[in-house]
Amino acid sequence: MRRLRVLLASGPTREPLDPVRYLSNYSTGTMGKRLADAARRRGHKLDWVQCPETAETALDLKRALERRLPKSDVLIMAAAVCDARPAVFQRDKIKKGRLGVICLVKNPDILASLARKKKKSQVFVGFALESRAIFRNALLKFSSKKLDLLLLQRVTAGKRPFGDARPEAYLIGRGGMKLRLVGMDKAQIASILLREVEKVALEKA
Ligand code: C5P
Repeated sequence: MRRLRVLLASGPTREPLDPVRYLSNYSTGTMGKRLADAARRRGHKLDWVQCPETAETALDLKRALERRLPKSDVLIMAAAVCDARPAVFQRDKIKKGRLGVICLVKNPDILASLARKKKKSQVFVGFALESRAIFRNALLKFSSKKLDLLLLQRVTAGKRPFGDARPEAYLIGRGGMKLRLVGMDKAQIASILLREVEKVALEKA
């Protein structure tokens, strides 16, 4: 098997409001850690952007990935990017009485924007958390973000895939649903995902 240069983004972005507060989400970065372990164990060269440590905000992450993508064979976009950020960063701590309304602006869709620069030989893997019409929404995402593989996980109030949970996960490929990954832990899912990445990379070589 060829040694692939794997670019991995994982964990939650943080979108600061003032020097003490930020918007974020429940992602813990656990899946990213398992993917990093699997990529290294399988002998690949890993370039890992961990949010929020290496790239704090969605805009930081976008810049970091744009710089690294040209020298990568594979992009695994497991980061939980905040879809919006506070419109203004206040340099001084906002007083409680002025916190009633926070104006937000949308963040760019990083994966969709990287897809416009994607080389034919590169393998793109995206993630999707869906609550309703999960397969229909996942397939839309698959084509709009020019993905080769998509790991779909169900999320509802009672079924959250965060941390060490065993998610209800499905792997989608170019022909539709490839694998049902239900009842597995994240280490198993990560190994299977890397194996499927290797297969796609081989087909493209
Ligand atoms: O559209 P949705 O946010 O569900 O898509 C999820 C996929 O897109 C994930 O791979 C995530 O890392 C990526 N994403 C992104 N930029 C955003 C939001 C999500 O790259 N602003």
